[in-house]
Amino acid sequence: AVGMLALSIGVILLATERLREELEYLATHDVMTGTLNRRAFIETAERELERCRRHGHVMSLLMIDVDHFKNVNDTYGHLVGDRVLKDFASRVISLLRLPDQFGRYGGEEFVLLLPETGREAAAIVADRICKATADAKAPACTVSIGLATTTLIDTSIGTLLSRADEALYRAKSGGRNQVAMAPLL
Ligand code: GH3
Ligand code: MG
Ligand code: MG
Repeated sequence: AVGMLALSIGVILLATERLREELEYLATHDVMTGTLNRRAFIETAERELERCRRHGHVMSLLMIDVDHFKNVNDTYGHLVGDRVLKDFASRVISLLRLPDQFGRYGGEEFVLLLPETGREAAAIVADRICKATADAKAPACTVSIGLATTTLIDTSIGTLLSRADEALYRAKSGGRNQVAMAPLL
């Protein structure tokens, strides 16, 4: 009887732990694309920035937005639009290194954090993402990317996000399907 009781308790503990892990995953991820959600991304990025500042390292952030995505929905419907977003996310994931953190910032906008990565190396990653996206067929789509790299002024992730966002705006107005870099400070 004691053995049975211990076994039952063991099974319950295991199930509870599974459930906890599942809830934790749901609270931190975007279910559709399997990427981090906005809140989890920002928390992770704040931690990474802390680490960066402690060690005097740099990191880069890419703000990625699908071009004319409304047209994809209008032309092919929302289900195809969803498939395009999932396909885009998995293409990006296949290009990432282990420490990189990829999140869905909202809608058709994604963010990618590249720890220990300076401006030039980040620009190469961003170009790869543009090319890998434009390679996809049916329906074809492209992305615009804003890139920002940390400097001493970045005491929280907000300033880095807003420089990447400003660069993204320039990539859009420059004709889309391209990468724009935030100016060196
Ligand atoms: P731009 O090149 O300037 O970024 O143009 P855009 O059409 O991509 O930008 P806009 O902000 O006008 O439209 C974004 C669209 O993305 C509108 C919204 O309905 C769609 N969208 C956001 N989230 C999802 C989603 O999860 N699934 C689908 N299918 N569409 C989504
Ligand atoms: Mg867009
Ligand atoms: Mg957008």
